[in-house]
Amino acid sequence: MTSVSVAPKTVKSPKPLPEPNSDFYEVYETLAPAELAMVKRVRAFMEAKVAPLATKYWVDDAFPFELLPGVKELGVGGLGMQGYGCAGGRLALLGFVLMEIARIDPSFATFFGVHDGLAMGSIYIDGSEEQKQKWLPPMARFEKIGCFGLTEPLVGSGASGGLTTTAKREGDSWILNGEKRWIGNAPWCDVSVIWARDLADNQVKGFIVENKTTPGFSVDKILNKVSLKIVQNGHITLKEVRVPESNRLQGGNSFRDTARVLKMTRYAVAWMATGCAMGAYEAALKYSQERLQFGKPIASFQLVQDLLAKMITNITAAQCLIVRQAQLHAEGKLTDAHAALAKAFATSKCRETVAWAREVLGGNGIVADYKAARFFTDAEALYSYEGTYQMQNLIIGKAITGLSAFV
Ligand SMILES: Cc1cc2nc3c(=O)[nH]c(=O)nc-3n(C[C@H](O)[C@H](O)[C@H](O)COP(=O)(O)OP(=O)(O)OC[C@H]3O[C@@H](n4cnc5c(N)ncnc54)[C@H](O)[C@@H]3O)c2cc1C
Repeated sequence: MTSVSVAPKTVKSPKPLPEPNSDFYEVYETLAPAELAMVKRVRAFMEAKVAPLATKYWVDDAFPFELLPGVKELGVGGLGMQGYGCAGGRLALLGFVLMEIARIDPSFATFFGVHDGLAMGSIYIDGSEEQKQKWLPPMARFEKIGCFGLTEPLVGSGASGGLTTTAKREGDSWILNGEKRWIGNAPWCDVSVIWARDLADNQVKGFIVENKTTPGFSVDKILNKVSLKIVQNGHITLKEVRVPESNRLQGGNSFRDTARVLKMTRYAVAWMATGCAMGAYEAALKYSQERLQFGKPIASFQLVQDLLAKMITNITAAQCLIVRQAQLHAEGKLTDAHAALAKAFATSKCRETVAWAREVLGGNGIVADYKAARFFTDAEALYSYEGTYQMQNLIIGKAITGLSAFV
């Protein structure tokens, strides 16, 4: 008998699949080492502390107050603002931090954006030196939380010329009357920046109101939202609310000054929308690598790969745009139209991306536990707040044609 030698059979373990990574063009490489360290700190906090709670609080329509002590320790209060106890740094760093927060939870990013960008931003941009000294340090430490009241029940997109909330000067005080709707953080926060029309000169002015101690100021929580459910939005009623002149934003003398704040928050929403898309994409990619149909991971099917490729393309395009947006700001060249374009593009691409993510999850895509559903509905609010898609395009349209289409 001849003996035949047979090579021992080796069992090949399957090649590990790549972890979802939504930094395809390595935009994080544009950060300095210390900046990257902060972004990683935020990512670690979001993944370890916020991610496990986000879906529960979202379903419950409640804000996770238990996370606030951890947020205080991150040292992100007042990022991009210099002095007054603020975290300082480049506006690009603020953008990356917002993107990280939204990648896990767009509601949490909105809470932060309203407090930091809209409320603190109004005081930083339009406040006097004394007002900045008084309000910004405790807000940067998250000891006092702020909100921003511009939108009204009857006036949203038309806020620039149509505010119905009035301010009337009486000696050293102002009397505010009116209503504000959709105001993020309002049901529980400490300080509101309220925008009202001065009856004397018809111009929009900003007032700092202390929510909990000012007679005539009341807030009803808006119920039954299906988007950004963790953010508590309020309907504010102002009845003969008396505010001292020292609480009128001294640099806010017309809607142009309000718009200076909105430019910066539109800058920020572009980053948040990109983070929202990243979170949805990563959830969909992971799911598609694990979900088997016809005996194979659905990620191996051409039509699913088409969706995933389109998602990462949207995300990469938005990331490149917002990094350039930050450069324009650093060069002192960021215009209202630049910020409007970034907000419009990033939120519309986000909306498209989260819908594809939901689709990749099939039926599970409409169940909050699988994350994609939360990103899917949250994107809707990002698309509409801080000025709707149409309003951003009117700002861009005016810049490129030289003709205003605003009525
Ligand atoms: C979750 C959430 C949080 C928010 N947080 C805040 C906050 O903290 N503070 C605050 O002040 N506001 C806040 N807002 C309000 C937000 O900024 C407004 O919803 C937004 O500006 C749109 O206003 P509106 O809802 O009244 O819509 P409308 O102005 O009634 O618009 C309805 C539709 O008509 C379109 N439209 C209107 N005018 C025109 C036109 N001339 N040409 C073409 N289309 C037009 C709009 O684009 C939109 O599609 C928040 C909103 C949401 C949903």
